[in-house]
Amino acid sequence: MNYNVLNKAIYDFFYSGNRINTRIKYFDLVSRLAYIIIENTDELTEKKFIKKVDINRSIELATEFFNEINPKYAERFLNILREKKKYGKRERYSVNFYKSDIQESLVDINGLVNININETIEDVFTIVHEMTHKLKMPYNQLSSISDYFEETASITIEFLLRDFLIEKNEFDYEEIMKYENNRFLDTLEGAGSIIFENILLNLYCENGNYINKKMIVNYLKQMDKDSKIGRLILKNQKYYLRNIIEANKLQFYMVRLYIIGTLLACDLYDKIKTDKKNIKSLFALIDKLGISSFEFESDLEMLQKLDIPIINPNAKPRFKLYRSYNKKRVGKLYDKFLDITEDDIERLTINYQKELNNLMNTNLKTK
Ligand SMILES: [Zn+2]
Repeated sequence: MNYNVLNKAIYDFFYSGNRINTRIKYFDLVSRLAYIIIENTDELTEKKFIKKVDINRSIELATEFFNEINPKYAERFLNILREKKKYGKRERYSVNFYKSDIQESLVDINGLVNININETIEDVFTIVHEMTHKLKMPYNQLSSISDYFEETASITIEFLLRDFLIEKNEFDYEEIMKYENNRFLDTLEGAGSIIFENILLNLYCENGNYINKKMIVNYLKQMDKDSKIGRLILKNQKYYLRNIIEANKLQFYMVRLYIIGTLLACDLYDKIKTDKKNIKSLFALIDKLGISSFEFESDLEMLQKLDIPIINPNAKPRFKLYRSYNKKRVGKLYDKFLDITEDDIERLTINYQKELNNLMNTNLKTK
C-alpha cells in the first residue's frame, strides 16, 4: 500500500478547492446517515441472478414501466434510444449496450449512456436507473444539487420498478428481490467506507497532518469486533484503503450519493405508497435535478417544499453574491442548506427499516 498517496488524498480533501468548510461539514452529516444504515442492516451477501431475460424484453419492460408512471418519460426514453449524436469526434447512439464486466453502467459527462447488460432481470433495473439520470438531459451540467441528490431519484425509481415487476407476475419474486438485496449490500459497504474515511481523517488530524500504517493498525485493533460497525470495518478495511489509493481520492465524493440516495429513496417511496400524488416529488427531482443549484433561492425553495428530510427548511442566504459556474445567474451562498435533525434521523431510520425488513423476510424465506 502506498501511504504517500493516502496522505495526498486526505490533504486534497481538506485543502483543495474553495469549498473547504462545506466539504467537512457535510462529511459529518453523511457519516450520521451512514450510521443509520450500518446500525439497521444485518449481514447481506451478494446474490447472483440466474434466470435468463432477453435484452429486448428488458427494453420493452422499461418502456412499459415508464409509460405507467409517466408517459412523457416513456416517450423521451424511446427517443433517446433512437437518438444519434456527436460525442467527441464521431456520431454515436446516445445509448450503448455492452456485455462485459469492464464497462461500467453510467451516464458520462457528455450525456453518453453506457449500459452493461447480463441478460437477466438485472438489466431492466440498470436501464431504468441509468435512463432516470439521462432524463434530466439535455440540461446536464454540474450543479450543487446533483452533487448530493443525483442518486435519489434513480434509486426511488428502482423501488417502483420492483413493484411493477412483482405485479406483472412474469418473473420469480425472489429473482426480482435480488436486485434490492445487492443495492442494500452496496449501500452498506459504502456506509462502512464513509466511517472508515472518517477514522482516517481524524487520525490524520490528531497526528499533525500525517498518517501511516501503524496508526491505522493500532486504531483497528481497539475496535469492538462484535459491534456491527467494527465487524464491517474490519472485514472491508483493506478494500476501502485500496479504493482510495487506486482512485487517488477519498471515496466520499461518490459514495455519499448512494448513502443519501438510498435513505431518501426509502423515505420518498414510503410517501408515494401512502399517497400516490406524492410521485410528483419524484418528478420534480428528476426534472429539476442537475439543472439547479442550492445557490439559487427559487431552486432551494422548491427543494424545501418537497419535504426532503436533510434539506434545511430554514436555510437563509448569506448576502454574498457571486457568479455561478455557467455565468448566467447570480447565486447566493447559504450557510446550511443541508442539515439533519433528530426528527430527520428517526424518520429516515423508520423508513429504511421498513424496506430492509421486507427484504430480510424475503431472504429468510428463500434460504
Ligand atoms: Zn446512478
